Amino acid sequence: MSHPLESIYALQKKDRRLIRIMREIRDIPQRKSDIEAQLAGSAQKLETALDSRKHTEASLKELELEVESLQERIIKYKQQQMEAKTNDQYRAFVKEIGVVEREISELEDKEIELIEFLDKGKIIMAECEERLGGEKAGIAGELAELDGRSAALQEQLEQIKAERSRAAEQCDKTILKKYTRIMNNKRDFAVVMVEPGGHCGGCHMKLPPQVSNDARNPTKIVSCNFCGRIVYNPAP
Ligand SMILES: [Zn+2]
Repeated sequence: MSHPLESIYALQKKDRRLIRIMREIRDIPQRKSDIEAQLAGSAQKLETALDSRKHTEASLKELELEVESLQERIIKYKQQQMEAKTNDQYRAFVKEIGVVEREISELEDKEIELIEFLDKGKIIMAECEERLGGEKAGIAGELAELDGRSAALQEQLEQIKAERSRAAEQCDKTILKKYTRIMNNKRDFAVVMVEPGGHCGGCHMKLPPQVSNDARNPTKIVSCNFCGRIVYNPAP
């Protein structure tokens, strides 16, 4: 007669596949959100570069306005200078105009610095845009792949569930109950082979010789004394 654990062992193979598939299906949303988070990080970098550019452009505009108003002041001084009544008045305007011209020159130096900063920022922004574009394209592919994988797994899951229930019908009901209880508890294996040397295939402890022998007997269902898993010792 065939050993009753043979069909239980076959059932366990289906359950192991079910567990693997369910675990992978469960992990897909996390994998997708990890990918999306990476994209959000790159989008944030671009956003920061854009903010920095706007800020610099605003500062530059302010400087330009300041220079314009100083230039207007020079024009006004020059008009007043022409109307000067005395040499002293004339020289006073020359001095004033000199002061304002130095101010303008300082502001223009700052303008040049800002323009250089803006140019560097443009290069950084272009790099960010390029990276983001590339990531978006890649990520769309990765996400689609994960969706495809999820659909394929779902299909496999249904198929194995059907196979599993057919396999369960072949099992002894009492042993199946015991198997289910241990499987729910251990979540990896409920039936394990006796390893060479008489060790439990689950916890690898040395089994008493009696248990090892009984594990061969089709009329007896024995468990490991240490981990409680059913031990099976199929005839060689
Ligand atoms: Zn054990």
